[in-house]
Amino acid sequence: MFRITQYLRELAQAQHSGSYPAPTRPGLARTEVASQDSSSQVGRSAAAGRHARGPVVIWNLIRRCNLTCKHCYAQSADHEYAGELSTQEVFSTLDDLKAAGVPALILSGGEPLLRPDFFEIAQRAKALGFHVSLSSNGTLIDLPMADRIAAFGFDYVGVSLDGLKATHDKFRRLDGAFDLSLAGVRLLHARGIKVGLRYTMTALNGHDFPALLELMRTEGAQKFYFSHLNYAGRGNIHRGKDAHHVATREAMEQLFDRAWDAAVRGLDEEYVTGNNDADGPYLLHWLRQRQPELHERFGADLRRRLVAWGGNSSGVNVANIDNLGHVHPDTMWWHHDLGSVRERRFGEIWADTSDPLMAGLKAKPRQVGGRCASCRDFDICGGNTRVRAQQLTGDTWGEDPGCYLLDEEIGVAPASDQPATTARRVIPLEVHDA
Ligand code: SF4
Repeated sequence: MFRITQYLRELAQAQHSGSYPAPTRPGLARTEVASQDSSSQVGRSAAAGRHARGPVVIWNLIRRCNLTCKHCYAQSADHEYAGELSTQEVFSTLDDLKAAGVPALILSGGEPLLRPDFFEIAQRAKALGFHVSLSSNGTLIDLPMADRIAAFGFDYVGVSLDGLKATHDKFRRLDGAFDLSLAGVRLLHARGIKVGLRYTMTALNGHDFPALLELMRTEGAQKFYFSHLNYAGRGNIHRGKDAHHVATREAMEQLFDRAWDAAVRGLDEEYVTGNNDADGPYLLHWLRQRQPELHERFGADLRRRLVAWGGNSSGVNVANIDNLGHVHPDTMWWHHDLGSVRERRFGEIWADTSDPLMAGLKAKPRQVGGRCASCRDFDICGGNTRVRAQQLTGDTWGEDPGCYLLDEEIGVAPASDQPATTARRVIPLEVHDA
């Protein structure tokens, strides 16, 4: 996840005060100081800092959902699924997660509110001291449910919206889904709960993106999570002419402009992205073009802060547990099973680098090929999304074909016209946010 607002608030503060502020996240100062020696040491130091505690866990507690969305990675339906973790199994896994130093849980599904013991689980998680977020389609959040969520005290609730009414209802395959979800957002907001909108841009809903940003503001939602579409591109492409990449660049510029406006005005709005770590380097390009004077004064500071972030954290700072208790490097790796919490403690599974994928993801720095290997911003991005490289090119450690940065922007030689690899298939589209 790339937290745009965090960086732009610091930049706005620097513009106002004349000096770049100290890092706002614990542990970052040490990492950043250590990172100033050389760019290669930067990557290693940042990665070392990222191992200081357990990962954030996205937990798909249930696969059942009251909707059957076209783009659901869990391919959920409105029926029960056999073999899901029992309440007691979830409770003992919570203890394991605590012992493994996991700081935060994102309770997801399916639709997690359909799980009869959902509030029992959430309450237990809260009592153990986890930061607890709920990821929901929002359609079940009526007045009694909103009261219950408010009484419980979730730290954050993310509600998926794919566009305005016509678009959203079509994506969700339910007339009235948009109205139900929006009503849920309003009920939560009225009860003082931090609520955000989650949006995955595709060729079919990109036209609604500006209106959704406006909707966020008018409804008082405090967070906008922009998830990139995983893209079925070729190994070598002319990124400047590729329609998907052009649309992505335009959307990122809108998002950065919006986040900058909110940061300068001191608005309580947070903008984050997921699924494409090239957003980090692109923020620097945006600053150079939109605010050349600020870039001149603070570009190096911003870059150091981005390097301390370090890019993609699948298998390192982010983990996934599915409804059956299988652990994965993140929600996009459901086809790669690291082990079951029924058989081994989470901490053991997570630390086990005998799995070649986990060894590669935890390597510092990751050993990646293609243009990522020679990219001058590798220390920011970390080589981006490995599951996309694997599924679109067949090479887990090859370049990420979803990178929308131009060759000249990352200091690499222009690609040839020949595709390096053959695209395999499109991977599931939706990811869940924190
Ligand atoms: S080339 Fe690779 S490392 Fe560089 S920004 Fe793009 S995805 Fe990231």
